[in-house]
Amino acid sequence: MKFSETFIPTLREVPSDAVIASHRLMFRAGMLRKLANGLFVYLPLGLRAFRKVENIIREEMDAIGSLEIKPSVVVPGELWMESGRWETMGASMLKVKNRTGAALVVSPTAEEAVTAMMRDELSSYKQLPVSVYQINTKYRDEIRPRYGVMRGREFTMKDAYSYHADEKSLDETYQKMERAYLRIFKRCGLTVIPVRADSGAMGGSGSEEFMVESEIGDNTLLLCRSCTYAANVEKAGCKPDAPINGAAPDTLPLERIATPDVKTIGELCAFLKTDATAFIKTLIYRAVNVELDLTGAPGSAQWKRVRPAPEAPAVYAEAFFAVCIRGDLDVNETKLAAALNAGEVALASDADVERLTGAPVGFAGPVGLTALPVIADETVAALHDAVTGALEKDAHYRHVAYGRDVAPWLAADVRTVKAGDRCPACGGELYEKKGNELGHIFKLGCKYTAPMNARFLDENGASRTPIMGSYGIGVDRTLASVIEERHDDAGIVWPMSVAPFHVIIIPVKYEGAVRSVTGNIAAALEKNGVEVLVDDRNERIGVKFNDADLTGVPFRVVVGEKSLAFEKPSVEVRRRGEQDVKLIPADSVGTAIAGMVFDELMKLG
Ligand code: ATP
Ligand code: MG
Repeated sequence: MKFSETFIPTLREVPSDAVIASHRLMFRAGMLRKLANGLFVYLPLGLRAFRKVENIIREEMDAIGSLEIKPSVVVPGELWMESGRWETMGASMLKVKNRTGAALVVSPTAEEAVTAMMRDELSSYKQLPVSVYQINTKYRDEIRPRYGVMRGREFTMKDAYSYHADEKSLDETYQKMERAYLRIFKRCGLTVIPVRADSGAMGGSGSEEFMVESEIGDNTLLLCRSCTYAANVEKAGCKPDAPINGAAPDTLPLERIATPDVKTIGELCAFLKTDATAFIKTLIYRAVNVELDLTGAPGSAQWKRVRPAPEAPAVYAEAFFAVCIRGDLDVNETKLAAALNAGEVALASDADVERLTGAPVGFAGPVGLTALPVIADETVAALHDAVTGALEKDAHYRHVAYGRDVAPWLAADVRTVKAGDRCPACGGELYEKKGNELGHIFKLGCKYTAPMNARFLDENGASRTPIMGSYGIGVDRTLASVIEERHDDAGIVWPMSVAPFHVIIIPVKYEGAVRSVTGNIAAALEKNGVEVLVDDRNERIGVKFNDADLTGVPFRVVVGEKSLAFEKPSVEVRRRGEQDVKLIPADSVGTAIAGMVFDELMKLG
């Protein structure tokens, strides 16, 4: 392809909102333009690289027997009402009405659409397992789209869905997917860390995310120095600490003490000559879309059910909880939301805290709290002789005994695990990294198939619900991550597998012998399946070199009169990212480079 006949509008300036390298370089290299916040146009060069990633994913999905389908992107809202996610997905889901007033959803993911199709087709265990996938447009109305296509509003996801007669079959497909994901990222030249993850709005019993390490990563990962344990902080657990205050017997009676003008945990510790580890911190949370049986829980009568039991678990539009944790630790809101099966949780307003605890903010505690259910982190059960708020201004309790004075409605692990905590698997030391999520796989169980009433007949003729898995990869985010990992000051340094072209040929002046040799080399390369861009523009050589570096095409071939006049007419070849320039005879350069291109592709797997 000739540069003059394509559309690669390279830029010298950096767009002002582009703060990360991949965002800057996609604009500067003429791959991408912005339509609106979170909405983009891929230009021809960008689309070529995008298609490379897409095809790697497609090949690996095909290789494990997943079957490509193409569902519509706009789907009926009623499917989401059937699954229950119409209420629980939140504001990121784009809901629209058509001219007849029918509710429609622009797919943010497709568990509902694919399950609706499958339930009509499935009848017998003989059809199972089955795995289908699409590489298709998704829309999520992200609050803060940022970093270019890393977090857009419209983006492309590969999403696969599998259906099974039993857990064992789901496990097999899940493991195949996991291996396929590792191959996909390796072929894209990326190093990924698989981590245990929270299942979030997807629900289900197990999930893993595939992360790339990144300074701008939205995720905190905890990794063990001694074993292979790796988890998103949203899921990470740790070994319990040694009991605080020794194994002090809780013999001292509960005592209410006056703590005038003591507002912070720090001030309280100074006042009582103790430290934060002796304190039961109590936070009041408001949770929305709580899918939990709260029958009989303290205070639950006041909260409205939006979906009544028993046909499905009750959903409460909102509910409040008191969450207790050791004073030196933080509550992890994702772990809390998972423990409550809630759509979202957030700290309650000061007014709600006062209404529910009868005391100003800062004096909440679990002793005698009856207006709302108490959730106790596991660290609270290990405390002895503890201190906590007394539900009254300027008052605390001391000598608090778990079990005697504190009887939580639910005990759960909601602590934020930090670097330095102990690995839950081996007791080794955990450390932290920042990561960006490229892919996510879930074991969903019957979370969608049961409410949507998908059924099949097993070997004995009994009607059963298929078990499901779902598996996503962001195509745009993967592409941007490749650039994030592979660039230098001059531009992108593509791995061969994702490069929009393998070779750029730069004729010093596109005329005479230089022009005909350029054509011959391009033809020889293309005959061998190599993708070639010929920079036939009437531009200064410096401009052409800069654009070649910026667009990151792996091999640069310079054809000039000087080296064509050598005894053996030659051209200059440079591998992007390397300094040295090789002289290669013009008549054999096509086969030489084709060999190197395929060697590099093979190495990536
Ligand atoms: P995140 O936590 O980053 O918002 P998610 O966990 O909501 O992502 P999933 O529902 O697991 O995302 O979607 C699967 C994949 O789709 C993600 O791993 C990511 O690569 C991609 N993805 C999700 N949201 C976006 C987005 N707004 N822009 C680009 N890619 C996205
Ligand atoms: Mg995810």
